[in-house]
Amino acid sequence: MDRAEHLERLRTEAFDLLIIGGGITGATAARDAARRGYRTALLEARDFAEGTSSRSSRLIHGGLRYLEHFEFDLVFEGSQERRRLLRIAPHHVRPLEFLFPIYQDGKVGRVKLDAGMWLYDALSLFRNIERHQMLSEDELLEREPGLRADGLLGGARYFDAQVDDARLVLSNVIAAAEAGAAVANRLEVCEVDTRDWPGHTVRVVDRESGEEWSVDALVVLNATGPWTDCTAALAGVKDDPMLQPTRGTHIQVSRDRIGHEHAFIFESPVDGRVMFVLPWRDFTLIGTTDDFHEGRPQDVAPTADDVRYLLESTNHLFPDADLAASDVLSAWAGLRPLVVEGRGSGDGAEGEVSRDFVVRQEPMGFFTIAGGKLTSSRAMAEQVVDQIAEFLAQADVKGKGKCDTARVPLPGGDFEDLEALHAHVSTRAADLGIDAAATTRLVRAYGTRTDDVLDLVRESRELAAPMLEGLPYVAAEVVYAARCELALHLEDVLYRRTHLAMETHARFRNACERTAGFMAAELGWSEDRVAAEIERAESLYARDDAWRAGLSTDANGE
Ligand code: FAD
Repeated sequence: MDRAEHLERLRTEAFDLLIIGGGITGATAARDAARRGYRTALLEARDFAEGTSSRSSRLIHGGLRYLEHFEFDLVFEGSQERRRLLRIAPHHVRPLEFLFPIYQDGKVGRVKLDAGMWLYDALSLFRNIERHQMLSEDELLEREPGLRADGLLGGARYFDAQVDDARLVLSNVIAAAEAGAAVANRLEVCEVDTRDWPGHTVRVVDRESGEEWSVDALVVLNATGPWTDCTAALAGVKDDPMLQPTRGTHIQVSRDRIGHEHAFIFESPVDGRVMFVLPWRDFTLIGTTDDFHEGRPQDVAPTADDVRYLLESTNHLFPDADLAASDVLSAWAGLRPLVVEGRGSGDGAEGEVSRDFVVRQEPMGFFTIAGGKLTSSRAMAEQVVDQIAEFLAQADVKGKGKCDTARVPLPGGDFEDLEALHAHVSTRAADLGIDAAATTRLVRAYGTRTDDVLDLVRESRELAAPMLEGLPYVAAEVVYAARCELALHLEDVLYRRTHLAMETHARFRNACERTAGFMAAELGWSEDRVAAEIERAESLYARDDAWRAGLSTDANGE
């Protein structure tokens, strides 16, 4: 994808629909609208997925814990979408086996758990990857010997799915562009003017060059997640705030520190909230916290209290792990764009606010979509584009067809058999000197498009080298990201095209230098530019690592 070409279109063309926000909500809506034949623009102020959509628990799930709040419609929708995403994005989304251990001192007993599990199966119309199974204490400990045995009553085994969140967003952006949308990252909307209706004049600024201009669009969709209320204000919308965002923090440790195989959902002994311990390659992702957040969305970062809570809860479940702050390789936080008025909004506590989504329509064709989750994003897009299509039809603007996003594969997802694809890629990758772990990662990230990445290696054999020794990313991915995936800055590659930033810890500087070297060669960066890129990436890393100072202050008793 060539950003300059997309910018030129955004300078010269008018659009039926202009979407503000390139997280999962905006990206799925852009894909849907473009596929229906609407002239569509997708504008992202930062990088695609830089907001909440790269800071999730990376689950595609029905949402077991929503059963507690009787949000059956949400679980039903999540289960349907899980099945669809496994079909249209089989490279990004894969089945994940969960265990739910229960304890004498917990809120959930065996009967309640079994009933909940039956309901979870039923709400997926018994078409989940496998049906749940109840396990005795011994059966659980046999599978996971590191679990706390004390007070263990048994538990359940069931399935959900895991996804690379940032790459799911990117695949939707690419699909939108391939269906005809004009897409741009680092293009910020600063004003939406509706005075000359019909149509909006949307003032934009290119954050790379500083250039400003206006784009005309009949309909504008505000899909800016935690920024929803700020964006509504840019359009002069004076309604009450829609959002009540909460901060969710994750930490990542090396998986051998816990030694688990399965994904876990469990009740935190600290406050009884449901948490996850999730395998992610050789790592473990632990999350999340859930606290109301005030302040700018872009400043959200993990706190010392967040990390302490996650460590304490995990150590209770796996006593021998004895995790300490020094085990934490990385931590990051995101804001859930929770909607105050969602279906079944709870009693006001953080975990009680509904995960449902809301669409608001102003009289002048300014739409807002907020809330929801990664899992339900395709369905959210279908619903909001249906509403926009109705609105556009009144202005005699008609699309070409109906929504087809539930059955058309995402880019790279056009295959039936993952093992066959893996075997094909393995043969080629081995010939080019790429190891097995990197090959698996390539298939997961690019699916059938892995061949395009391997073509780069065939042209320049040094691109077979690992981005960083011991991690399964190859240098060709950096070039591919810059050339085909609109990665403009070092941080785009370290944080979202790959997850290198979260996986390097003490070697972060090293990762920056190696990656910047490949980007410089591809994009013609000067030495000064390389230094500036590294400085910027390090400042982001420092923001997410600042909690360590908080913990050491505690240790000093200050
Ligand atoms: P965002 O991803 O934040 O995107 C909004 C975008 O708008 C941003 O990129 C921002 O830069 C852009 N923007 C803002 N202002 C402007 C402007 N003026 N001009 C242009 N662009 C602008 N869901 C799941 O299904 N599974 C999970 O496991 C899961 N785990 C989660 C864990 C945590 C801790 C959190 C916080 C959420 C989790 N979710 C999960 C929910 C899911 O991640 C979010 O619902 C989803 O990512 C929100 O996407 P979004 O596109 O609405 O917002």
